[in-house]
Amino acid sequence: MNKNHFGKFYNNEDVYLFSLKNDNGIEVKITNYGGIITSIITPDKNGNFSDIVLGFETLDEYLAGHPYFGVIIGRYCNRIKNGTFILNGIQYNLAKNDGDNHLHGGLKGFDKVLWDFNIRKDEEKELLEFSYLSKDMEEGYPGNLQVNVTYSLNNNNELKIEYIAKTDKDTIINLTNHSYFNLSDEETILNHELKIYANYFTPIDSSLIPTGELLSVNNTPFDFTDFELIGKRIDYDNEQLKYGNGYDHNFVLNKKDNSLTLAAELFSKVSGRFLQVFTTEPAIQFYSGNFLDGTIKGKNQKVYTRRSGLCLETQHYPDSPNKINFPSVILKSNHEYKQITIFKFGVK
Ligand code: BGC
Repeated sequence: MNKNHFGKFYNNEDVYLFSLKNDNGIEVKITNYGGIITSIITPDKNGNFSDIVLGFETLDEYLAGHPYFGVIIGRYCNRIKNGTFILNGIQYNLAKNDGDNHLHGGLKGFDKVLWDFNIRKDEEKELLEFSYLSKDMEEGYPGNLQVNVTYSLNNNNELKIEYIAKTDKDTIINLTNHSYFNLSDEETILNHELKIYANYFTPIDSSLIPTGELLSVNNTPFDFTDFELIGKRIDYDNEQLKYGNGYDHNFVLNKKDNSLTLAAELFSKVSGRFLQVFTTEPAIQFYSGNFLDGTIKGKNQKVYTRRSGLCLETQHYPDSPNKINFPSVILKSNHEYKQITIFKFGVK
């Protein structure tokens, strides 16, 4: 594994950029600022290698602020209504950093902190382990939470992200990675084909908070149970698409336990690149990059216009702390939180 200096954090601490490479020439770069995956270089169907995620070349651009490119999100990814929840009879108040709601862990979530790092080895590959202690009441969340996130890349072209956390007081937790993918060199992801292993999704209100219902995807633009072009129905006259400004919805995976299963598959006919997402989580947020607006210039001077990248965020449902019928996001003190998500790269 290569480790290069990436720049200085606000407190003058050194920040590093690590590079994981496999025998097939795939390379993933990750920094310990925010645990950000800054680039993923994979071959297309003609064997030409290029970067398939949005992001920047320099640390300063990340420090200047951005829409969560490639980051680890925590302590709670996605939205919590009115930034408040009750746990063990106590009301906790979080930052309202998305209108009246709490989004992606607050003002200084796990995406904006410097993670400790450790490079380990198993029989087959090197592992990059990040750790962070989120203090009791940081961003309003109870409990000292010790979080470990481990990245590895094997020769089956699987980028594995393993999250483990422990708390000394009951808390809530929902971690994810927020990479924006574009598998081709086309300006948008509208020509990508997507399959999501979900028969239901959680419809939202106008502030993107789930209503609490589970709605069948059948006969809706949310039916991705077979490969479908993302651009085909995205501008349909549909209330849910209007609320989301496109796709910005939580899909309920067809599974009954927390086993590692295939959640989604993404394909670009133009490049031939194929991405599979496996997870132990019960849901996946499909966000079609609707809020990108051309004001950010990323790697290779590329302007990130609307829908130039998409996120497939494995997670628990949004606003679960306030929805009794959603799977629980409570982490009891001295219990272990564990999530595995794998991004597998291929060509067809
Ligand atoms: C959310 C979007 C939000 C975006 C911010 C996504 O995970 O679903 O609503 O605008 O993150 O980058």
